[in-house]
Amino acid sequence: MQHRPNWVTGIALLAIHVGALLALFPAFFSWSGVIVAIVISNLTGAFGITLCYHRSLTHRALRMVRPLEYATAILGALAFQGDPINWVATHRIHHAHADRRGDPHSIRRGLTWAHVSWLFRTNENLPTDEQCKRYTPDLWPDPVYQALRYLYVPMQIALAVLLFVLGGWSWVVWGIFARLVFTYHATWLVNSAAHAFGYRTYRTPDRSVNSWFVAMISWGEGWHNNHHAFPFSARHGLKWFEIDCTWWTIKLMAALRLVDKVRVPTREMRERLAGAQKDLQRSYFRRMTLE
Ligand SMILES: [Zn+2]
Ligand SMILES: [Zn+2]
Repeated sequence: MQHRPNWVTGIALLAIHVGALLALFPAFFSWSGVIVAIVISNLTGAFGITLCYHRSLTHRALRMVRPLEYATAILGALAFQGDPINWVATHRIHHAHADRRGDPHSIRRGLTWAHVSWLFRTNENLPTDEQCKRYTPDLWPDPVYQALRYLYVPMQIALAVLLFVLGGWSWVVWGIFARLVFTYHATWLVNSAAHAFGYRTYRTPDRSVNSWFVAMISWGEGWHNNHHAFPFSARHGLKWFEIDCTWWTIKLMAALRLVDKVRVPTREMRERLAGAQKDLQRSYFRRMTLE
């Protein structure tokens, strides 16, 4: 249990944001640097965090062939949001206690808390090693995931050195700092904005909402009310207009037989929770008009 601010994380996040400001100076600008940032952001954010860490490892919404699972987990580690075990444990705790006591980034503690402050301020709900082990019985014994606990920091440094050798400071500023800041906020908006601003299709005991804006920048993760309603679903955008790029990727991978056991909710499941939400809204409206 952590009863004091996490200074290391706080200072690292501050330094990364200051580094990203350098991207605004012409001396560090290059089109190749921008392209490097876009490519790495997509690889680490879309494939690493969204597809692997979140939909596959945390929720087991699909099963990837092992080499692909490990390769995408390495991409996830390069997103520098922690190793798979810690990320998955934290996120499973979020779902187990969403917006209630015990949630590491409950929206009830405010937007700033849910967005970023939970990472570095005193947070008694961050998992200890013991809780990580308990919440990830499927990942904890795996030597690859154990190794990534210790390797994800050196890996980021190695990537920075590689980018410096290949493209100089511009590639480091764009490919590491600017890219990390963009991907961080895309992920963090799922915890903040997608628990605050948007519409609710399904009745869930938390405050999750569907946010098109968050979905656009987070590879489909903004359909977060759908996700809290059906955490096991590989598909988050459930209506025709709810664009979910990661779902398209999963369908393509399934066609190529790189993934199987892809899970989605049945029509009955969806209708039941959508009906419950409509009933709730109707009774709320009745109360408002009677008063
Ligand atoms: Zn959530
Ligand atoms: Zn989730």
